[in-house]
Amino acid sequence: MKALVYEGPGCLTLTEVPDPLPKPDEVILEVTAAGVCGTDHHLVAGELGVPEGTIPGHETAGKVVACGSDVSGWAEGDAAVGYGQVICGSCAACTGGHANRCTRPQGFGMARPGGFAQYLAIPVASLVPLPTGVDPAVGAIATDAIATPFHALTTVGRVQKGETVAIIGAGGLGLHAVSLARHLGAGNIVVVDPSTEARALAIDFGANEVLDPAEHEQPGRALRKLAGGVDAAFEFVGRASTVEAGLASLNPGGRLVVVGVGHEEPRLPPIIRFIGMELTVTGSFGSTMDDISTVLNLIDAGQIDTSHSVSQRVGLAEAPALFAGPPGPARTVIEPWNCEKGENSD
Ligand SMILES: [Zn+2]
Ligand SMILES: [Zn+2]
Repeated sequence: MKALVYEGPGCLTLTEVPDPLPKPDEVILEVTAAGVCGTDHHLVAGELGVPEGTIPGHETAGKVVACGSDVSGWAEGDAAVGYGQVICGSCAACTGGHANRCTRPQGFGMARPGGFAQYLAIPVASLVPLPTGVDPAVGAIATDAIATPFHALTTVGRVQKGETVAIIGAGGLGLHAVSLARHLGAGNIVVVDPSTEARALAIDFGANEVLDPAEHEQPGRALRKLAGGVDAAFEFVGRASTVEAGLASLNPGGRLVVVGVGHEEPRLPPIIRFIGMELTVTGSFGSTMDDISTVLNLIDAGQIDTSHSVSQRVGLAEAPALFAGPPGPARTVIEPWNCEKGENSD
């Protein structure tokens, strides 16, 4: 099969590799769509330390074309999306229903081959049915770009009707957080991002107001002023300055949910202010398979607007060039069987 293979920092190559064979508990998916995540950009840049030979891709949709000997409940032709990791199934997080916190996960596109390929071997325990009404490209990105903010806004952030919500960082996840906040009945939705293009897209996704942090010495205060105080802020950047801006924007009783991944150490507000206002700061990581299932059903029912979700579709041959620059707005999706320039003709 054809696959995109990581061959060292900055180097992603379209290569011919052996077709995967299913283990007893696995199926083989013919990959119809694979979302390109910011994480993949970090991976290809060499920042994640994955071994050479890795096939990236953890947002995958496909069609079952072969089943392992122990597989039941799935048949050839079934459409599915993949959970982004294979969980151990036995740690306290897994048995407690928090698969996203599994202590021994094997991520697709990192510890296991991922979806930037024509076929993917995946255990049935990581499969979620894809409703027939959902475009596979949207289904693929739903597994991360939509389910991750869904988990953050519902299970963790508990957005209530009429609340003022701030979304800090309008990449693929932040933009979908805007649609989801709209779906959950948020009142005012304010988006903070330094990119003019991202701010324009945020309006398309349903934001009421946008703020360019570069125009303000204290973006958190500017955000609080523009929003009239924020009830729930969601940070999708993973930097100290954006976490601190989120905290500074909050109303009394406000929550800040940090979704962006990073290594910096943000500061809390002065303790007297932090306790006096009863502020909450919490992290949110990934999503559960139930989240993915719920999101897919909401999309199928037309309750989440995904009309702007996929900004670009490319075949395998065009994909390596994507990694020469920063991630594009919203989501780029690789369609491995999409013929372009005479490629993929077998
Ligand atoms: Zn991702
Ligand atoms: Zn586990």
